[in-house]
Amino acid sequence: MFDAIFLDRDGTISHDPYGYINDVKDYHFFDFTFDALEKLSTLTNRFFIVTNQSGLATGKIKIENLENIHSFIISEFAKRKLPLKKIYYADNYDEGFHSLRKPGIGMFEKAKDEFGINLENSLMIGDSIVDIEAGERCKMKTIFLLTGMGNDYLDEVNKKCKPSFICDNLMQASEKLL
Ligand SMILES: [Mg+2]
Repeated sequence: MFDAIFLDRDGTISHDPYGYINDVKDYHFFDFTFDALEKLSTLTNRFFIVTNQSGLATGKIKIENLENIHSFIISEFAKRKLPLKKIYYADNYDEGFHSLRKPGIGMFEKAKDEFGINLENSLMIGDSIVDIEAGERCKMKTIFLLTGMGNDYLDEVNKKCKPSFICDNLMQASEKLL
């Protein structure tokens, strides 16, 4: 059992077509996402989504559009009774250790404070090196996925990080853990 499972958003649970999404119409879960999450929900009572959305700072993403997308995500999890506790997002380019923006650990510290999460007993899953770096900074278990930007980051992740597992996608990750 994990105290919590932290999920990156774009490239992890959903497609990442152009690096940012500014319209809920362009937001598409992978076809395996909810089957995988059903399996993962046998391992935890708490999911969190932690997502870098610096497009908010550059104006590529409007806050009301981000909120629409997140309402959609919350309702899709709720339909399936998946225990999504909160979506955290970073809206800037701050790169400090405690910054919200991954690899900063700010979003994880917020979850720890707001929900009493034991990060060392938790898992981070993502398709970018920053997901793995943030997870390692929090002493979490980490799974690096090759969906989204994963293939582009694979060499760098192998050089700089030690993910607990590297998997083709979220479904394979869920099967590996069970
Ligand atoms: Mg991603």
